[in-house]
Amino acid sequence: MKIESRLDVVLFSLVVTVITMVSAVALNYVIFPSVYLSRTVPGTIMIVTLVTIPTCLFVGSKIRENVRLSVELRRLVERDRLTDVSTRDFFFARMAQKPEAYGMSLMVDIDFFKRVNDTYGHLTGDKVIAHVATLLQRAVSPEDIVCRFGGEEFVVFLADTDHSAGAATAERLRALVADSPIDEAGTTLRVTVSIGGSLKEAADNIETAIQRADDALYVAKNDGRNQVRMHPIGNLRSDPARKIA
Ligand code: GH3
Ligand code: MG
Ligand code: MG
Repeated sequence: MKIESRLDVVLFSLVVTVITMVSAVALNYVIFPSVYLSRTVPGTIMIVTLVTIPTCLFVGSKIRENVRLSVELRRLVERDRLTDVSTRDFFFARMAQKPEAYGMSLMVDIDFFKRVNDTYGHLTGDKVIAHVATLLQRAVSPEDIVCRFGGEEFVVFLADTDHSAGAATAERLRALVADSPIDEAGTTLRVTVSIGGSLKEAADNIETAIQRADDALYVAKNDGRNQVRMHPIGNLRSDPARKIA
């Protein structure tokens, strides 16, 4: 029985009270001679009612509070407070559950974000980070993971996605952010992101895939930002001479 609402607490109290009552009355029949039952049974019913119901209501409400706190705690561990996408810890925990996962790792970083903070203030900067996170989360499918990796950096893992489909999704995400201005305090703000991608084969670990995606991101930044660059590893079999492109 899950105790999540007030009604659950009342039901829990009723069930325990009825079970206690039936047991206590039955015990009367076992212990006392029938001549005493007309006195002992009403007394037993009164004691059980006075003790069990308030005790159960108290215990039930404590259980309900603990259930609420554990749900809240899990949310804090799993979801980033500002953006509501996965936390870094939750991302690595999920990836550790399926180390052989195949897919595209994308490192997404907002361009010239310091300027946003310097020009419009930190709170507006926060809104921009949340805005980009929402765009990314809405643009991928539920099997994919969007994680806030650091301040204005996100990792997106596209499950079961090969090199060319991953590159196409990365380009779609880049264009989506560039084409989605934010209205903030009467100003229309535009930001762009640079994206580095790297294919994670079943044998690769996620840390390596993210490091390669970060290397590709570095190239995207150096090439002028608002760009997608893909790390060649994972696509080397088709073209061993490939560089980050
Ligand atoms: P680049 O195009 O090279 O990525 O330049 P950038 O300015 O985006 O990069 P840089 O890493 O130099 O700056 C990132 C800034 O993000 C610095 C930091 O103050 C800011 N930042 C980090 N976390 C938060 C946050 O939670 N909220 C806000 N508002 N700013 C943050
Ligand atoms: Mg940045
Ligand atoms: Mg950064």
